[in-house]
Amino acid sequence: MTSKIDHIGIAVANLDEALKLYTEVLGLTVHGTETVEEQKVKVAFLPIGDTEVELLESTDPEGPIAKFIEAKGQGIQHIAFRVSNIEEALEAMKAKGIRRIDEKPRYGAGGAKIAFLHPKSTNGVLIELCERN
Ligand code: ZN
Repeated sequence: MTSKIDHIGIAVANLDEALKLYTEVLGLTVHGTETVEEQKVKVAFLPIGDTEVELLESTDPEGPIAKFIEAKGQGIQHIAFRVSNIEEALEAMKAKGIRRIDEKPRYGAGGAKIAFLHPKSTNGVLIELCERN
C-alpha cells in the first residue's frame, strides 16, 4: 500500500536560517518553495535520493507548525508515506481501527493529495499519507 518515504517534514522557526544548514552544510538543493495558505506554512523542498526534506515555517502564530514549535521546539514534525490511492488507504486505515485526523484527503504542497493519521494511533508519530500523480 505504501511505496516509499515521500518526505520528512521538519518544523523550523526561520526558513532562511534553516536552509543554510541544509544547503551550505549538508549540500542539498532547494527544488522549490511554496506557501500553503490552508496550512499556514511556507514550505521549502529539498530532494535527496528518492525522497525529500520538507522544511516548514509557520506564517501565522496560530498555525499548526507554530503550535508544534511552541509545544515541542523545532524538529521533525511528520513523516510522509507515499500511497498510490489515498482514498483506499484512508478506508483501509479506518478498517484497521487507526484514528485519522483527515477523513478525506486535502491538497498539500506541490498539489499532492494528503491526509494525516492521529499520533495517538501511531505511537506518537504524525504520519502523513501522500498521493502524487
Ligand atoms: Zn508533509
